[in-house]
Amino acid sequence: MSSIIKLLLYISLFIFVYFLFSPNIHHTDIPSSSITRDDTSSDYTPDPAYMDIKKVALTFDDGPDSSTTPALLEGLRERNVRATFFVVGKKADENKDILEQMYKDGHLIGNHTNTHCNLSTMSCDNALEEINLANNAIFQVTGSYTDYLRPPFGECGDILDTSLNMFQVLWDIDPRDWSVQNTKSVVNYVITHADDGDIILLHDIFRPSVEAALEIIDILSERGFEFVTVDEILFP
Ligand SMILES: [Zn+2]
Repeated sequence: MSSIIKLLLYISLFIFVYFLFSPNIHHTDIPSSSITRDDTSSDYTPDPAYMDIKKVALTFDDGPDSSTTPALLEGLRERNVRATFFVVGKKADENKDILEQMYKDGHLIGNHTNTHCNLSTMSCDNALEEINLANNAIFQVTGSYTDYLRPPFGECGDILDTSLNMFQVLWDIDPRDWSVQNTKSVVNYVITHADDGDIILLHDIFRPSVEAALEIIDILSERGFEFVTVDEILFP
């Protein structure tokens, strides 16, 4: 055998052995594309636990009251729930420490007039004064003016047509807690009517209403409801 043929044979053998034991370059490409595909969201299915969250807002009128509101604030804090309080200006003046706690706890504070008057039966000037006095009482404690007004009795007359730059907040669910003053019936009414986006009307000046509110939170939380302040419902 000539030396040239021998050399060619050695080279062929070397090339054969090299490809037999060398890493497969095509094999290394495959996993990279597989990783990319697995990491994209094309096959991603959201956790069902987060798909059905319904938001509701608990609102409390007529306080703050020194005999009932602190227990409510404590219960809300324990449950890490934020609510909305439409406070009466005069009562806010008398209970500055409670209003301050409310604000520190992250609750939204709204205006419920200064003396809980019926705005629809007053002159515009008097109605504006009622609202401004309550706004000032809130500002004195929180350092900010509220944008939200809940007129007592749900009646605000023509006041929204004036220069008043506030949002009126009414409600979707009214268990008439001030009338029945019974924890169980308030709870049952609210939990059977609650739906996504509802604003619930309660009064923190009644002990049965405070107890009802905390029970409502416990029951509706288990049913997938999240409790938010009214601004999150009105301007999602
Ligand atoms: Zn009221």
